[in-house]
Amino acid sequence: MARVGEIAYKTAFIGRWYFWYNLELALLHAVAPKATPLWLTRQLADEARSLDQERQELQVKIFGLIRNYGSVCAACGACCKENVQRFTAFDAAVRTGGPMPLQRYGREILSLPWMVSNGIQHTWQRVMHAVTRTPMPESAVCEHLGKKGCTLGHQERPMLCASWFCPKYLRHIEHRDLKRMAPLLRDMERLHFRAARLMRRGNHSLRHSK
Ligand code: SF4
Ligand code: SF4
Repeated sequence: MARVGEIAYKTAFIGRWYFWYNLELALLHAVAPKATPLWLTRQLADEARSLDQERQELQVKIFGLIRNYGSVCAACGACCKENVQRFTAFDAAVRTGGPMPLQRYGREILSLPWMVSNGIQHTWQRVMHAVTRTPMPESAVCEHLGKKGCTLGHQERPMLCASWFCPKYLRHIEHRDLKRMAPLLRDMERLHFRAARLMRRGNHSLRHSK
């Protein structure tokens, strides 16, 4: 009976943190301001710095929790073999107030058309690989991928890299770790919403300063 409960929990977890969370981020991103201004007021800069501190602590906790499952991603590696910018406007917003603001970030990875076309393309490649047994095509890789994995420290990685888990990966995670991960992902979700609010207030200040 306990096993049935665990399967139900994992299924709900995948629905919540694979399907809904990523759709929610794409929608939030679509309505967020298109550019992140340099903060005009000390208060906004202070808030951005405080959010960034939370982000770093959260990422260290998440990566610490999943370190025992690294072999699943190491054997697959699909996520890092995508030539798309992982840093988004949300990363840029919280890092703007800090000593090392992001120089580059992209909009593509959180756009619904890209997500859909990328999903279709990968599904097609897997089907062809299964049917014809030909090797999966090599694609360009993330600019931060080195010979031994990601070259960025846990707190320096994009927020998306800390909170993206595919169903294949989630199937390997033990029940007790999934239960520990859920509140951390909720905090990461809230952090995105708070970053979006900060961006709106930054843009509001910008308009009223002209
Ligand atoms: S999250 Fe999934 S798709 Fe991405 S590298 Fe890990 S196992 Fe592969
Ligand atoms: S930033 Fe690091 S973890 Fe994220 S996709 Fe690139 S190599 Fe992978």
